[in-house]
Amino acid sequence: MNEYDTHVIQSELVAGGHSLVDHASDADLVLLNSCAVRGKPVEKVASLLGELRKQKRAGRPLAIGLLGCLAQLEEGQTLADKFDVDILVGPGALTDIVPAVDALERGDGRQRSLRFRDDLDTVVPPAPDALTGFLTIMRGCNHHCTYCIVPTTRGPEVSRRAELILAEARAMQAKGVQEVVLLGQNVNSYGLGDPSLPSFAELLRMVAAVGIPRVKFTTSHPMNFTSDIIDVIASEPNVCNYIHLPAQSGSDRVLRRMAREYRRERYLDIIREIRDKVDGVVISTDLIAGFPGETEADFEATLSLYDEARFDHAYMFVYSARPGTPSFARLEDLPRSLKVERLQRLIERQKRWSLASNRAFEGRELRVLLKDLGRDGSFAVGHSDQNHTVLVPQAQVRRMGLEQVRISQATPHTLYGEVVGARPGAVPLAMAS
Ligand code: SAM
Ligand code: SF4
Repeated sequence: MNEYDTHVIQSELVAGGHSLVDHASDADLVLLNSCAVRGKPVEKVASLLGELRKQKRAGRPLAIGLLGCLAQLEEGQTLADKFDVDILVGPGALTDIVPAVDALERGDGRQRSLRFRDDLDTVVPPAPDALTGFLTIMRGCNHHCTYCIVPTTRGPEVSRRAELILAEARAMQAKGVQEVVLLGQNVNSYGLGDPSLPSFAELLRMVAAVGIPRVKFTTSHPMNFTSDIIDVIASEPNVCNYIHLPAQSGSDRVLRRMAREYRRERYLDIIREIRDKVDGVVISTDLIAGFPGETEADFEATLSLYDEARFDHAYMFVYSARPGTPSFARLEDLPRSLKVERLQRLIERQKRWSLASNRAFEGRELRVLLKDLGRDGSFAVGHSDQNHTVLVPQAQVRRMGLEQVRISQATPHTLYGEVVGARPGAVPLAMAS
């Protein structure tokens, strides 16, 4: 989502007559698009702001902007004061960026825009040569999970009109985008409460009909993950058989204290229905270790949920107490050592199940969207329809894009394979036109 927001900011700036440079050291204006979900990224932003202020004080002519979720919070505004930030723009006001930059250039002083504007009507052109296109279908969140700052930073849910979404998808298809990712904090709440909009399942079918080879979406919430959505995934060949469904905890007591609106058995029912209906589906989740008051028995319930759901992958976090959330105000944080120890145990469980799941793909062919060269340049990196990270020898790759890959080896995080039909003497990528 932040990657997409950054793309929106860049498009707005370029359309407004500004130009982008490759290195921050060459810029007159540096904008930090921030995340505020956990404490760690906030610390990173603070340290970057400190570095930029040092350069400014040393005489570099530089303006600094803090954008995104952190800008929306008191915490971010305090940092902005401390580090002489010139522009502060929240995630609901990104299209105010050009007027803010222009006003700063005119010498109008510090600029801030923190209101939630209904700028969902802006049509964002696809990034040039992009193989993946991100497409926002809704913004904001109407849930109130007690640990989460998102409802404060991004405001209430608003869904975009289906015509705009389809227009953006068609523009992507015309530009050769190979994969579209529908974005929202809770994509399956799309259109709820507005009879003029289709349901998420209907929208998914409409986007699939545009004909982009792959359609993915994130994030889903278990509360409104209805059977009709599962049916669309099962029946539309270009809707990927990959589902990310955050569980957060396997303990009903913790789920209640988190104000998640489902319980363990309901969550497992959804997982069973998905596995029954969607062939070869890959399921990932989000889990939080060490929520305030989590007992050893609660944590073991999360481990056993992992075993029952047989998650193919998980994103795991230690609970981070965020100022402004109900759990920060009312509940006592557990000792960090206990949270980290539980996270380690979760990671062990994840590695075991991910390795088992990935091994099942050895010897099989997967369709992979190759997009980048690996760090040392000897592998090209891509993602399968089921969202595995897949590496193939760079010498087998003529151009980036969709390829059939036969998987030869699996690790807990990565699949290695060979491009099907690659000739041993294929032109290396660096030499290909
Ligand atoms: N809307 C999605 C949902 O409810 O499943 C998730 C969006 S949230 C920005 C992404 C993930 O960050 C959550 O699923 C949760 O696991 C994690 N998260 C949010 N607040 C957190 C906190 N205070 N500490 C640790 N992890 C947190
Ligand atoms: Fe945060 Fe909960 Fe909303 Fe997800 S559903 S964004 S975790 S408040």
